[in-house]
Order: sequence, then C-alpha cells, then structure tokens
Amino acid sequence: AAKIIDGKAIAAEVKAEVAQRVTAFVEKHGRAPGLDVVLVGDDPASQVYVGSKEKQAGTVGIRGAVHRMPSDTTQDALEAKVRELNAARDVDGILVQLPLPKHLDSQRVIDVLEPGKDVDGLTPISTGLLWSDRPGLRPCTPWGCMRLLQHTGVALEGARAVVIGRSALVGKPIAAMLVAKNATVTLAHSRTKDLAARVREADIVIAAVGKAELVRGDWIKDGAVVIDVGINRSASGKLIGDVEYAGAAERASWITPVPGGVGPMTIAMLLSNTVDAAERRASW
Ligand code: NAD
Repeated sequence: AAKIIDGKAIAAEVKAEVAQRVTAFVEKHGRAPGLDVVLVGDDPASQVYVGSKEKQAGTVGIRGAVHRMPSDTTQDALEAKVRELNAARDVDGILVQLPLPKHLDSQRVIDVLEPGKDVDGLTPISTGLLWSDRPGLRPCTPWGCMRLLQHTGVALEGARAVVIGRSALVGKPIAAMLVAKNATVTLAHSRTKDLAARVREADIVIAAVGKAELVRGDWIKDGAVVIDVGINRSASGKLIGDVEYAGAAERASWITPVPGGVGPMTIAMLLSNTVDAAERRASW
C-alpha cells in the first residue's frame, strides 16, 4: 500500500522555514516582507482564499494586506492599482486574485505586474525564466507539487512522468519543472488519445484536470508516485480528487490525499515566494 504524502505537515515545514527567513530579513532590513493581494468583487470562494492568504502571512511574520475593489472596477482603475503597488517600496509580492469579473482582462492586468513582485509566477517573464531554467518566481501550486515530490525522495532523473492537464496555472508549469529535473515528461490534456496507456507507463503521475476520479486506480503502475491536484465535489458533497484514491493507493508507492495533499502547499509556497521576492529586491 502507498505511503501518504502529508501536505499539511510538509506545508508546516515550509512555513517554519519561511518564518525563520522572515526573522532574518527583519533584522537585516528593519521591516517585514510585504504581500499585497488585490481582490475585485465579492466572489465568495475568492473572499475565503484571500482571507486565508492574509491570515497565514501574519502567522509567519509577513505583512499581509488586501486591497478590496468593487465588482464594477474598470480595467484602468485596476491597472492603476497594480502600478501603485509595483512602485511601493514596502510591497514585495503582489497577487491579483483570479478569476476577475468578466468585464476585466486578466491577461492585461498580469502584463502590468512587476515581474520581481510576481509571487504567483504568472507573468510572461516568470514563465520564460521557468522554461529557460533561470531563477525566478514560480507558480505556487506546481512549486508545491515539486516540494511534495522532493519529500518522497524518489528520483526524478530519467523517470517517466505524465502530467494530465495543460493549464497555465498548473499543468504547463509543472511539466517545465519536471523537465528541469530531467524527467521524461508527457503533457496530456483533453484531446489526448488513450490516456490510460500514457498513465500506465508513468513512474510519476500528476493529475490537474478538475474531473472527479478521471484517473482510475488500475491505470497506476506498481510503485508509481501519484500527485493529485484536482479538487472536486462528490455527489454526497465530499471533496475528492482527479484520481480514484483507493485503487491508486493499492498500487502506488506514494500518494497525496485530497484534501490534505497539494491543497495546503499552495499558500505555503506563496509565502515562500514572497520572502524570495523580498530578499531578491533587497539585494539589488
Ligand atoms: P483548468 O480547467 O484550467 O485545466 C484543466 C485541464 O484539464 C485542461 O488543460 C484540459 O485540457 C484538461 N482536461 C480536461 N478534461 C480532460 C480529460 N478528460 N482528459 C485529460 N485532460 C483533460 O484547471 P486548473 O486550473 O489547471 O485546475 C485543475 C484542477 O486542480 C481543478 O480541480 C482545480 O480546482 C485544482 N487546483 C487546485 C489547486 C490547489 O490545490 N491549491 C490549485 C489550482 C487548481
């Protein structure tokens, strides 16, 4: 049976490291690293995420602030807010909470963001740095998945990995991160033919689709590592992943639970990115 990759515990480890780095930063620079989140509108899920980011920033000593803007905010007003935060000296990380209301163009907003403060790792500069193996700010959820893989101690070099899902937020960046670790990566998506066969040959399976139990347990190769990014609701209202857990856990060597696997890592890596950004900016 698979060993469980405990995302809660590993996220707590990351946060403890961040807290230490924050203390050292404050000693050296006389101020706390700052994370500023822009929230447009009143989407209830976004309110919860943003509140949690602000609260967890506080627990590691990062100055967190939320800039709430009304749902009828114009593109110009939002871009002006981002420019203001770009210029603010005590702001190290800027995050524009997505999705934005439909009348706003999120790509254009992200294009305005100062890459040195791009703690979500979503600007074209951050993407370019990632794909060219250069230091930079990495998207938080895939970065957290890499940390979970590292925890297993399983060698990535030469391993066959399948990433299911090709979003700019999760699938594509994790494919880049795995290639950087010398894995042989297949990037599967909605048009992939015979997904089962691609999964059956994989030593590492990353599922980031958003379809409950799409990946069947009997597709998993014996001893594979399974990272399930998906968050779905079952008919009975339970949170379930993209992988059929019980079947996969019989075959895998390591597996993430849902919830309690990838989920807790995202904010931990956001906080880690904020300290990275603060240290880099302070060294300029
Ligand atoms: P998305 O909707 O942007 O992308 C889904 C991807 O899945 C697409 O690239 C699509 O091609 C692929 N896909 C769809 N149907 C498929 C099929 N039948 N077979 C193979 N591929 C298929 O989603 P996303 O933003 O990448 O998020 C994916 C999942 O991860 C969601 O459940 C989301 O809630 C979750 N998520 C979790 C976290 C976290 O844990 N913190 C963060 C981000 C996303």
